[in-house]
Amino acid sequence: MYDYDIGIFDILFWGAILATFVVQIMVHSTYKKYAKIDNMLGLTGEQVARQILESKGIEGINIIPIEGELTDCYDPKKKELRLSQGVFEGKSLSALGIAAHEVGHACQDAENYGMLKLRNATAGGIMFADKLIWVVIITNIICAVLHMYAIGLITLFLFLAYLCFLLFFQLITLPCEFDASKRAETMLFNCGFVAESERKKIHDLLFAAAMTYVAATAVTLLNILRIVVGRRR
Ligand SMILES: [Zn+2]
Repeated sequence: MYDYDIGIFDILFWGAILATFVVQIMVHSTYKKYAKIDNMLGLTGEQVARQILESKGIEGINIIPIEGELTDCYDPKKKELRLSQGVFEGKSLSALGIAAHEVGHACQDAENYGMLKLRNATAGGIMFADKLIWVVIITNIICAVLHMYAIGLITLFLFLAYLCFLLFFQLITLPCEFDASKRAETMLFNCGFVAESERKKIHDLLFAAAMTYVAATAVTLLNILRIVVGRRR
């Protein structure tokens, strides 16, 4: 079908995959580090989230606990702010930072923030594509084994189309994430939940979390480049 040379984009691609693991470790270690420091007011993530929402005049948001660690999210459809147990009940700087970040998404939703609207509109499509793409990948492998080049080429183009769609989704996710983190930091500081001395710690935590999205986007971009540039007849 295609000869394949290992090129610069392959090396960068695997480098980016390695970077995503490093970033994940960095996020977890920063989370753990600041999970040991209680916030000065002794408030839980849930209480802080509720108070910030009230101060912003945002109503009708359910704040509920969910299982796992760093599984926190905001669901704009159900108007639900889901906080992991450690954040929901936790009184640490980590709990505050993450709770405020999710409130940041709720604020974006309340303000009809364009990028969040676009992201939400695309999310369903990407979830559907995520389920289907395995069929394409397996078909591509079978075609390679059976030397069915024509169908193999179609599956390769389908995979590339999927990667481009994923890249688009990731690119519109980035401003949403950075904006939510910026809002979180400002809201926590302005509402008096964190002191000036703690602001840097909150910033470090949220910055590390945002880097996971940057690394994932880089992986997708380099995957596209290595397939397009790295393959030749
Ligand atoms: Zn987020």
